[in-house]
Amino acid sequence: MNDFVKGKSGYTGKGIVFNIQRWAIQDGPGMRTTIFLKGCPLNCGWCANPESQRSHPEIMTRNILCIGCAKCKEVCPLEAISIVESPSEETVYSSMRQTSCQAQSAVLSDESGNGLADSGREVKIKKEIARNINWSLCNDCLKCAEVCPAKAIIISGEEKTVDEVMKVVLKDMSFYRRTKGGLTISGGEPLMQWQFTLDLLKSARKRGIHTALDTTGFGSWAILEKLLEYTNLLLYDVKHTDSSKHKAATGAGNELILENLRKAVKKCTVWIRRVVIPGFNDSDAETEALAQLVTSLDPLPAKLSLLPYHKFAESKYESIGMTYTYSHVEPLLAEKIKELKKVMESLCGIKVDIGK
Ligand code: SF4
Ligand code: SF4
Repeated sequence: MNDFVKGKSGYTGKGIVFNIQRWAIQDGPGMRTTIFLKGCPLNCGWCANPESQRSHPEIMTRNILCIGCAKCKEVCPLEAISIVESPSEETVYSSMRQTSCQAQSAVLSDESGNGLADSGREVKIKKEIARNINWSLCNDCLKCAEVCPAKAIIISGEEKTVDEVMKVVLKDMSFYRRTKGGLTISGGEPLMQWQFTLDLLKSARKRGIHTALDTTGFGSWAILEKLLEYTNLLLYDVKHTDSSKHKAATGAGNELILENLRKAVKKCTVWIRRVVIPGFNDSDAETEALAQLVTSLDPLPAKLSLLPYHKFAESKYESIGMTYTYSHVEPLLAEKIKELKKVMESLCGIKVDIGK
């Protein structure tokens, strides 16, 4: 059992937050503010927020904005950055503009000098500069992001106090009241920053704000139980009912997750969430196994949400030096998800919806 599962942490009164999403409508009832915390003990290849997985602030690149000034290269202590100049007067297709960053001095022109060409015709590029990062050398010291004038390298993840987060949350009190919304804490896995999560939940509840916790359930029960005292709704991921398949896809078996789920339903309203991933957990056998699990819970969860797998995050992987391993997996057809919803409704006898 690692330190995370045992609940050890060096809490400083601050949390590392990588996003605060106002007016969220998918993370619980009504209109909500969702706080995304960094760090996750699992390693799901389909993760829609890959920047949530590492616990520390990290760099994120936006190549299209790079102006080729080389300031990042100058400050990198590990020589992880290189500036590559392509030979001048190289013949390329104009679609290359989408794939590499351009120096300010780069000029794309057609043979008659008519400027940028977007039609896929062959054009001459006089100078092209690309800033490359050798991710295996980078230790996320963040120095390059601090000096980049074009915001072509930014920092994902920032230390914040509870008061700083709550200042944003409190801006939408009138929406929460009108829509029966509130605060959701998500990630990453909020249990990894459980003391900060606990302080946020307490602070929200003190102000009468509805609280939801979005978790993988992979953590210490003692900690989760403590958090549930201040949680109105638990959003609980069940990725696969078969532990070996769960382990192959996420790096950990599901025993602890399912054990915590059985305890959690007795303490809190639970919505189970299932990201439906073609070829992983959309088979008839797994559909039946999930239904069996749901109906074995006592009391039953209030809802099951089916979240169709999508590939919208694919480019984010490259931007943080990770490899997206699900490129070959195509999203399910809408019809298939609707069919699955009907099947689950008939098997589980609880409300089933299709989320995003
Ligand atoms: S974050 Fe990485 S690439 Fe950037 S300066 Fe530090 S080591 Fe170099
Ligand atoms: S990433 Fe930023 S600092 Fe580095 S070359 Fe591009 S614009 Fe300059």
